[in-house]
Order: sequence, then C-alpha cells, then structure tokens
Amino acid sequence: MKRIYNISKKKMEYVKGEAYFYQVEERLKNYPYLNKDFQTDILIIGGGIVGAITNYYLSQKYDVALIDKSRFGSGCTSCATVLLEYQLDDFAENLLSVMSEDEISQVYRMGQESIIEIDRFIKKHGNYCHFSLRSSLLFTNKLFGVKAIENEYLFRKERGFKAKLIYPENNSFPFKFKAGLYCPDGGAEFNPYLFTKQMIENSRNQDKLFENTEIQSISKTEYGYIATTNFHDKIYCRKIIFATGYNFELLENAKLCDRAISYTIVTNPLKNLSLPEQTLIQDDEVPYHYMRVLPDKRIIFGGEDSKFNKKSIDDSLAEKKYKKLKNTLCKMLPNYSE
Ligand SMILES: Cc1cc2nc3c(=O)[nH]c(=O)nc-3n(C[C@H](O)[C@H](O)[C@H](O)COP(=O)(O)OP(=O)(O)OC[C@H]3O[C@@H](n4cnc5c(N)ncnc54)[C@H](O)[C@@H]3O)c2cc1C
Repeated sequence: MKRIYNISKKKMEYVKGEAYFYQVEERLKNYPYLNKDFQTDILIIGGGIVGAITNYYLSQKYDVALIDKSRFGSGCTSCATVLLEYQLDDFAENLLSVMSEDEISQVYRMGQESIIEIDRFIKKHGNYCHFSLRSSLLFTNKLFGVKAIENEYLFRKERGFKAKLIYPENNSFPFKFKAGLYCPDGGAEFNPYLFTKQMIENSRNQDKLFENTEIQSISKTEYGYIATTNFHDKIYCRKIIFATGYNFELLENAKLCDRAISYTIVTNPLKNLSLPEQTLIQDDEVPYHYMRVLPDKRIIFGGEDSKFNKKSIDDSLAEKKYKKLKNTLCKMLPNYSE
C-alpha cells in the first residue's frame, strides 16, 4: 500500500493503491501458473525478494522450483523502504546480552558482504533496478542517545569499520540532531521489485517458475513432501523452503514468533531538496524512522513499527501511523515544497 502526500502541512493528498515500487514502466517477463502434477527436488514457496535470491543461487546447482500465489515481487518486497544497511535495528551494546562482540562484528561484516554480493550480481547482469551504493547516517535527538551513538562509533572504529561522528558543529545535513554516526560504506539502495524480477529472470530454472499458483496444503510422505495447489495439482519434492514473508497461513499453527508491521509514506517529487541522495538516514527513536531520497526526488520515509498478530491490516491504526510519519517528516524538514 502506498501513501503519497505533499510535504507542506496545508496540502495533503493520500493515495491508496498499489505499492510504490510495483509501478514500473519496464516490460517484464510474466510466468505461467502450474496446471499439472509436477516433481522437483526443492520447492521454494514465495517469490518475493527472499524466494528470488534463494532460487537464483540454488538453481545454479540444484533442481529447484519457485512458486508464488501472486506475481513475483508484488508482496511486501514492493512495499519496503529499501535502506539496505549492514547495521542492525539495535545498537551493538544492546545486543551484547544475546551475542558476543565478535559475533556482532561478524554480523556487520556479513551485511557488508551481502551488499558487495548484490553489487557483483549487478556488475554481471547489468543495473536494471536502480542500484546504488550508499552511505548511512544514524542520528539521535535525545541527550541520552548521544552516549549510545558514541559507543556505537567506538565499537565500529575498533573493529575496522569506516565511521565518523557528527555533532551540531559539523552537521551539514539540512536537519538538526544532537549526534550522528556517519558510515561512508553503510549500505545501498535499489528498486526491490525490479531487483527481484532481475534475480528471477537470470535464474537457471526458467521452466520451473510459476506465478498465480497458491500452495494450499502440505503433507509429509516417506520420500519428502506433497504440496497441493489451489488448482488441486500436486508438487512432489524432497525439500521445501518457505519464503512466504508475512503470509503465515501455512505455518500459522506452529506459532513460531511474533509478527511486526512497518509503515511507509512517499512524498511527491520535491523541488528544493538539499537532502543528500547518497545517504540512508535512520534515527534512534522507539519505534524508529528511516528515509532516503528516490531517483525522482521523492522522499520515502518509513518506520513506526508495531506488533502485528492479526489476520488483516487495521486501517484506522494505519491512518494514525501514516499521519505520525508525515508529522515527523514535516518537523524534520519544514521548508520543502513540491
Ligand atoms: C513498510 C516496510 C518498510 C521496509 N523497509 C525495509 C528497509 O528499508 N530495508 C530492508 O532491508 N527491509 C525493509 N522491509 C522489510 C522487507 O520488505 C522484507 O523483509 C522483505 O521484502 C520480505 O521479503 P519476502 O520475500 O520474505 O516476502 P514477500 O515479498 O511478502 O514475499 C512473499 C511471497 O510469498 C507469496 N506467498 C505467500 N504465501 C504463499 C502460498 N501459500 N503459496 C504461494 N505463494 C505464497 C506471496 O504472494 C509473496 O509474493 C520493509 C518492510 C515494510 C513492510
């Protein structure tokens, strides 16, 4: 779901419809639905970004099929804000109760390597998804947040990550904060829908990709599993990978974890925008906010996460969250106009 609004407080226009990133002009390949019984070694259920990446790599070595109940990439993947960052939602010092310092550092490195691997993929197959490497800024407006930012800076510096501290005296960003942690190689951005499609179109198993086919039930056999589709066809496989995102129906009874929901708004293109396009920006509020500038000078602004264990979206809560996002953005950048 997308919301577009003018950043000036007087004029506000909400648009409800398809996800922002799903609306592309490029002509992309569509895939057929499955209409017969079928056999594969590995079945991946869900062709969002997670299923697409898994399918791309596994199809280089294994007999694998990818199936989605809708169009590939049209789920949560197209709703994301797409700040691809190596840093996590929590500061290193808050993770120490569950991980060692070395493990946290290793997670950061793995995040960096993932971004490098995406860069490698783009160099090999071409940049058809607006991919760019980006810096990142994590900032605080709270007095007690300054120490946390400084500790995070020290943690990264001591482990060889590139990082710089920013205070009000050396802040060149067009909004105020008490302290910020700037990382020149902090992340990347792309259009997640186009990237997902590119991953799928470059996979080796072009004859085993099916859209508009829902897996409705799964049963275990002596040799593996049988997944049954909404057309009552059966897929016989040895292993199943669930990449169904927020669509938990198949796993619902297992009650494995809590779900969370996040919200995003997109502005109209802004004329006098001096926000640096090359930086992915995030604050330390609870719940936090994050933003970046899109290629056509819109700001995409997200956050306000909350627990979500319901079956469907609570529209009135969503409206409140969108308004809160808008007010927070207007407060940060009061002077922008279309
Ligand atoms: C508002 C918002 C902002 C976000 N911002 C960021 C961000 O800045 N950075 C970041 O890294 N992440 C962000 N995320 C998270 C990111 O979007 C998700 O982690 C990611 O897109 C999940 O991808 P996925 O492939 O797991 O799920 P999805 O894209 O939802 O794909 C799951 C697919 O499974 C299919 N499916 C489900 N059930 C079945 C079934 N029974 N049979 C067949 N197919 C099925 C669905 O049709 C769907 O296409 C954000 C998320 C949201 C909502």
